[in-house]
Amino acid sequence: IASLSKRVVEEAPACGYAPPLNQTMAFRALPISEKTLQGLEACKTPYTTMTAIQNACIPHALAGRDILGAARTGSGKTLAFVVPVLECLFRHRFTPADGPGAAILSPTRELAVQIFQVLKAAGKFHTFSVGLLIGGKKDFHEEQQHVATTNIFIATPGRLLQHLEQTPYFEMSELKILVLDEADRILDMGFRDQLVRILSYLPDGPRQTLLFSATQTTDVSDLATLSLRKPEYLGVHDKE
Ligand code: ADP
Ligand code: MG
Repeated sequence: IASLSKRVVEEAPACGYAPPLNQTMAFRALPISEKTLQGLEACKTPYTTMTAIQNACIPHALAGRDILGAARTGSGKTLAFVVPVLECLFRHRFTPADGPGAAILSPTRELAVQIFQVLKAAGKFHTFSVGLLIGGKKDFHEEQQHVATTNIFIATPGRLLQHLEQTPYFEMSELKILVLDEADRILDMGFRDQLVRILSYLPDGPRQTLLFSATQTTDVSDLATLSLRKPEYLGVHDKE
């Protein structure tokens, strides 16, 4: 781990920026699709300027690197992975017929629904199929009809694993990008073994993995070792 680059940036007020530019960066300055830019601008609060964690993570993610991103709750981690997910599938020219290309894992149903809403809004000019796999009242057999033509999953670990183990012809062998959101909470909630089983269904490479966490614990580093390859460690810390 010592040999991996570690970057810690201070969060400036509002939508401040992170080195090396030391200035606020607009989403428009990124090498991303017009569809994503327009989606961001069409959101309820139009997103134009990146927050510090977005500024730190998105350029590395667009370059195909694995990431361990740590920043407090409310710092804008959702778009820090939603933008790279949309761009990754856009660059691979995914259509619903191509099936699963991205999976975003969340510890709770409520968080998964929030991510789904952000992804739907920012991705509204793209044509990817997006599915929520969160269990509860949702009918498993009904979901089974759709998973093979879903490009982006937002899922709780248990439900995704249930499909990987029980849905005929459902595979994630072509998955391009995996996101573990709130990895600290995923581990706190006892999902570690399920995560390890999910990882066994995914291609070793070329798969990109983005791991986000509000806190940096040894369990999170342990999960990072398991799931990431040569990650960039990007931490954004508030000024005391
Ligand atoms: P986290 O996952 O780090 O807790 P969220 O992704 O949920 O944070 O974002 C927290 C809030 O910040 C949300 O209300 C979101 O709309 C807002 N937000 C995110 N990115 C930006 C941005 N670039 N500009 C303005 N507001 C933003
Ligand atoms: Mg979040």
